[in-house]
Amino acid sequence: MRATVMYGAGDVRVESVPDARIAEPTDALLTVTRSCICGSDLWPYKKMERSASGRRMGHEFIGIIEAVGTSVRTLKKGDVVVAPFAWSDGTCEFCRQGLQTSCLHGGFWGGALDGGQGEAVRVPQADGTLVVLPVGVDDALMPGLLTLSDVMGTGHHAALAAKAGSGKIVAVVGDGAVGLCGIIAARRLGAEQVILLGRHPARIALAREFGATDIVSERGEEAVARVRDLTGGLGAHSVLECVGHDESTATALAIARAGGAVGRVGVPQSSSIPAAVPAFFANVTIAGGPAPVRAYIEDLLPDVVEGRIEPGKVFDRVTDLDGVPDGYRAMNDREAIKVLIEI
Ligand SMILES: [Zn+2]
Repeated sequence: MRATVMYGAGDVRVESVPDARIAEPTDALLTVTRSCICGSDLWPYKKMERSASGRRMGHEFIGIIEAVGTSVRTLKKGDVVVAPFAWSDGTCEFCRQGLQTSCLHGGFWGGALDGGQGEAVRVPQADGTLVVLPVGVDDALMPGLLTLSDVMGTGHHAALAAKAGSGKIVAVVGDGAVGLCGIIAARRLGAEQVILLGRHPARIALAREFGATDIVSERGEEAVARVRDLTGGLGAHSVLECVGHDESTATALAIARAGGAVGRVGVPQSSSIPAAVPAFFANVTIAGGPAPVRAYIEDLLPDVVEGRIEPGKVFDRVTDLDGVPDGYRAMNDREAIKVLIEI
């Protein structure tokens, strides 16, 4: 079969790899029909050290079950399913708490396992991991459903971690797909005012469509001052940090009001939290982490199926498997917000 392999910074190839197959009784074998490129795939695209064996890529995908292992109970051949970006057993202490990214028997796609940017995937812990979709494999809703594998669930996690809710003022730091989905999530949870910190015109237009009420395109101290102006001098109740850089994190902490909360879903690019002291004295909660998107799929799915939210609009480019290397380039050059792969 063919799949995407990264060999180093800027070196993404689509090539032949060993066929995916069932190895454990708890596995399912999936033919991938839709996948996509993630903002987090751009970190290794920028910085990965050369690897002779390469790294299999892709952690967001939808597909059709081809076969299941002998102990799989909830899935059957022909089911159309979505996979979250982490696999999990669904039964351990942390899965039962809804924290599947900490599953005691789970893990993440790629590396030694199959990745989603390929023709097929061996899915470990299939019963716990996969969710059957109520639509056909070529349904028009596929882009929106695919966001449930990561970006929509991650935006929702940021909003929950930041305690977004009815009547709240929410600020979203980052205009990538996760930040844009964070706007959807904040509005869905009842936020009254949603301020996007971003500067890219196409992303700002989509942000407004998703319900952003204010746009702040300044950076650093100027951005903080603008958010203060927009919030009666007090700052936002809830801040979604969807980038992970020191500068964006410092801005996120600085625009939270006293007693507010920051939900961090941008993978931190350094090991300490910048600007932590003023946030401490303002009693700002700092929460978040990798989103347990598996916990949110059943909750968000009806909103996508019934058209109340349209997170699939974050995809502004479609390619086939051969076009994946250029898709990475386009996202890295900020030509595309997010690239959908039809396989
Ligand atoms: Zn578990």
